[in-house]
Amino acid sequence: MLRHGRKVADATISFHVVLDKPIMQVATLRACLQRLRNLEDLQLSLRHLKHSGWRRLLRNICFTRLDLFYSNAPHDVISQFLWSHSRIAFLRIEECVKAGRSCPLDGGQLPELCDVSAPVGCVLSLVKNNPVSRVTAQQGAPLIITALMSSLASTTTNLTVLELDVNPSDFDVLGRIVRAAPALTALKLLETQTFKSRRSHQRRAWKDGKSWGKTLRGLTHLQHFALRTSLYTPAIFCNIGSGAYLIEQWGGGKVRPHPALQRILLWHSFGTIHSCISVWELLQSTWRRSNDFHDAVPSLFV
Ligand SMILES: [Zn+2]
Repeated sequence: MLRHGRKVADATISFHVVLDKPIMQVATLRACLQRLRNLEDLQLSLRHLKHSGWRRLLRNICFTRLDLFYSNAPHDVISQFLWSHSRIAFLRIEECVKAGRSCPLDGGQLPELCDVSAPVGCVLSLVKNNPVSRVTAQQGAPLIITALMSSLASTTTNLTVLELDVNPSDFDVLGRIVRAAPALTALKLLETQTFKSRRSHQRRAWKDGKSWGKTLRGLTHLQHFALRTSLYTPAIFCNIGSGAYLIEQWGGGKVRPHPALQRILLWHSFGTIHSCISVWELLQSTWRRSNDFHDAVPSLFV
């Protein structure tokens, strides 16, 4: 990049660096970034860069048009970078090195921020002050999720898309979501893998289809619902005799259909050789399985 002229640098609007190996030339990368004045998208995923390296890399760097930033940089470094980039709308960050303490991003304002993906404690810091409508929250302990939910409920934010890591033993999580974010149009719940196979028949709130369906109906705008579980569920979901019995209970069936739900994705047996994503769609008032992906990968789970 450094060898190319200003024209190329000025024309570059998207720049992604994803490195799993140690980076030797931080100064070269920094010089490169300094030339890319018109960047709109920037991804810096540098697995082995130390804190001091991140500081050196991003100190006083500024892009006037930047609206997307994905990075695994420490959050105190990110905070200094973010507050000078008020146009950022899409933000994806990784674990917070300040675990146990409040996130350095707490209290910061990004007036354009609409889509954020971060550990749940840091999401909490970001949704409080900013107009976020799409949240992906990772690694949530039930207590922090409760805090996130009450924070969402007390903001004026109209959250419409939520993706959340949940503990399978958290029976009230859906109820809390309904109370905190009633305007959701899409909800994705990812069970954290805390259960081993010998305990794989743990109780799950969603197995009680009737009451799960009733709670889901509280999300009156919900069109897409997705659940990822480590449970092996074909007997529950794909039984020919009972058809889509549980799915119908979630969707409300013909008698009391959900007001908006059109599509349900179920990723079952996650983390096992049976891993499979089933796609269910409402067609002429009947829930039908339209697809099964046995080569289940996250890109199909959308
Ligand atoms: Zn943080």
